[in-house]
Amino acid sequence: MSGALPQIPVAKPQLDEQEVEAVRRVVLSGWVTQGPEVAAFEAEFAEYVGAPYACAVSNCTTALHLALMAVGVGPGDEVITVSHSFVATANAIRYCGAVPVFVDIEAGGFNMDPDLIEAAVTARTKAIVCVHQLGMPCDLRRIVEVGRHFAIPVIEDAACATGSEILWEGEWQRIGRPHGDIACFSFHPRKVVTTGDGGMLTTANPDYDRKFRLWRQHGMSVADTVRHGSKQVIYEEYPELGYNYRMTDLQAAIGRVQLRRLPELVSRRRQIAAKYENLLKDVPGLVTPIEPAWTRSNWQSYCVMLPGDIDQKVTMQALLDQGISTRRGVMNIHLESAYAASGSHRASTDLARSVAAQTGSVILPLFAQMTDQDLTRVGGALRELMVPPLSLPSARVG
Ligand SMILES: *Cc1c(COP(=O)(O)O)cnc(C)c1O
Repeated sequence: MSGALPQIPVAKPQLDEQEVEAVRRVVLSGWVTQGPEVAAFEAEFAEYVGAPYACAVSNCTTALHLALMAVGVGPGDEVITVSHSFVATANAIRYCGAVPVFVDIEAGGFNMDPDLIEAAVTARTKAIVCVHQLGMPCDLRRIVEVGRHFAIPVIEDAACATGSEILWEGEWQRIGRPHGDIACFSFHPRKVVTTGDGGMLTTANPDYDRKFRLWRQHGMSVADTVRHGSKQVIYEEYPELGYNYRMTDLQAAIGRVQLRRLPELVSRRRQIAAKYENLLKDVPGLVTPIEPAWTRSNWQSYCVMLPGDIDQKVTMQALLDQGISTRRGVMNIHLESAYAASGSHRASTDLARSVAAQTGSVILPLFAQMTDQDLTRVGGALRELMVPPLSLPSARVG
């Protein structure tokens, strides 16, 4: 029907000559892994989100692993989280030998239902991992309240939420201050800013930050930059088991450029989301995402719930046939084979809303370079498909 129209991808990173120039500078400097660029990116990121400490790592999955280790999660412990998330959220818990305990998401959204946490707490609960799913801040105020009440640390999986904000004690604050104990970010290309791959941990706790820095670099007592710059011979030590979770300076240089673009990227994404809302709000049965009054999403993804009688895959295929790429809504971790074995997880509640969100929702294209024409095309195509098969005029004939 529209063979001549250009393909609309579901997402697209914003990268140009500025990032190329940043990488070029680093390559020619001769220092390409964790060094001065990483340190500068950390300082700039900390300032941007308003965090006392920021530590860069290789990706958000390794950030989550270190965050869980820092708060003392170990073999046999339990960590309360959602199944309705990317698999990495729960995988990081299992890396610690701990058991993910899943609670359902809230009605009318894709984030953890704070009302379900208390019943999931046991003597073994060592942490809560809440997710700012698709960039939409979860109900941190209530989640942190439950955490404080039971003295359980709260780790924010903020993989998608770089640039999102929350109204906190009367002022708008960026996700990552952090409002829990530690926040973990991702710079995968599918997120709002990218370094190819990359992650960041933010915290107000200097002891956690010290641990992150030790563990990301093999547990080595001396940073490479310190040894390199020293006029004295230094022998390093390895007091603890560590990992290689470093970010490279090549990545950090890209991250610094991306961070400068971020305010503009978020503002453009918010405009696009508002336009989608206008285009789609009156489509019968279609539920557009709700942004609670106390949040400002970066709209990492724009995810709609389809009317009950509309098939997800058929809709996605029909859109793809018209050159419009979409994704199904967020997965459910507990439905994957990697989580089939007993002991791999525990469900504290029924996960009906999580499953319904996976099977009934579609993520629409959203990226900063999208034109109004792209938006109208997606909105129009989706609207036409939202007619249940039985109400087609041809079905009534005879
Ligand atoms: C992308 C994502 C991750 C993993 O991030 P990586 O940087 O790819 O490791 C974790 N949690 C959530 C919710 C994500 O969306």
